[in-house]
Amino acid sequence: MPQTEDSTQLKGQTALATPTEGSGEEQAKGQARRILVTGGCGFIGSHLIDRLIGAGHRVLCVDNLVTGTKQNVEHLFGHPSFEYLYHDVTDPLDVEVDEIYHLACPASPVKYQIDPIQTMKTLVMGAINILDLAKRLDCKVLQASTSEVYGDPEQHPQSESYCGNVNPLGPRACYDEGKRCAETLFMDYHRQHGVQVKIARIFNTYGPRMSFDDGRVVSSFVLQALQKEDITIFGDGSQTRSFCYVDDMVTALVLLMESEASVAGPVNLGMPAENTVAELAQMILTKLGSPSKLVFHPLPVDDPRKRLPDISLARQTLGWAPQVPLDLGLDRTAAFYRDRLTDVA
Ligand code: NAD
Repeated sequence: MPQTEDSTQLKGQTALATPTEGSGEEQAKGQARRILVTGGCGFIGSHLIDRLIGAGHRVLCVDNLVTGTKQNVEHLFGHPSFEYLYHDVTDPLDVEVDEIYHLACPASPVKYQIDPIQTMKTLVMGAINILDLAKRLDCKVLQASTSEVYGDPEQHPQSESYCGNVNPLGPRACYDEGKRCAETLFMDYHRQHGVQVKIARIFNTYGPRMSFDDGRVVSSFVLQALQKEDITIFGDGSQTRSFCYVDDMVTALVLLMESEASVAGPVNLGMPAENTVAELAQMILTKLGSPSKLVFHPLPVDDPRKRLPDISLARQTLGWAPQVPLDLGLDRTAAFYRDRLTDVA
């Protein structure tokens, strides 16, 4: 059994917030669970943990810190409902939990292409290890899949029935094909072993705690604008993306986990509205009153030209649609980066 680094061991490393145990709604209703979040020190995982602990659950955060950072969860060190375990999901994991959110995997192209073999191992071996754990524990397990399973889509918008257009040989394949293989494994464990799986196809999500150097458009543009550097656009900026604020995404993940047993997914989760990358850059420049200039670089190999989720299934089965408009989400994101830049200055 691996050793957990609990709040007591980490106490004193940072200023600790210690909300009262048992104050959450779920706990009050007697439904508090012990929940494993893999990749919990990452961007989405850390927000998910905040939500789960706020609802009165206990959380075991597992991470190998390859792209995430303890800074994202440091406010929870000392909280009685939070435990952190340093662990690589490519190794088997033996813990006791009631429910699993499986998010562990570098998410940005810059990061997952640094060591593509390790990315593929994380996605495939990680899925097998986590599914074996869910099978042994007979518990629900949610896979953080991705819109990248659609590759450079020929169907627009993309619905769950679309099988995608992925280049299996290109530099993005370690992630795209790894996520596709993980979805296959989730469905096979479901059919062969009766594991209760939930597959979330997450589209572009943004917000506070995205890492500074992950090269994703929102974080890159906001940082470049705040630092009055050139805004780097790959291609001519006409490629589209949909941008979902992280609080909305966390709501969707929790609703999917709570959905009826018959809902295995996949379910598209994302903002059902498109912006070109150039529009996004201009919005950020205007919002921040930045003098930065737009500079254009060649488009990376296999970069998708457009991306837009059809979220009809999420609306029907989860009653979910994003609530935070891009304008407000960008304000919150920019405020976070401004604070972080002030901290390091
Ligand atoms: P992130 O890189 O911020 O978080 C991923 C976390 O997983 C990090 O903390 C990292 O250290 C950890 N990790 C990576 N490999 C690991 C391993 N082998 N063992 C243990 N921990 C490991 O990324 P994110 O944006 O928070 O994404 C979370 C999940 O959501 C990922 O699975 C990603 O593929 C998926 N997703 C994200 C987006 C998005 O727009 N952010 C879109 C689609 C899918």
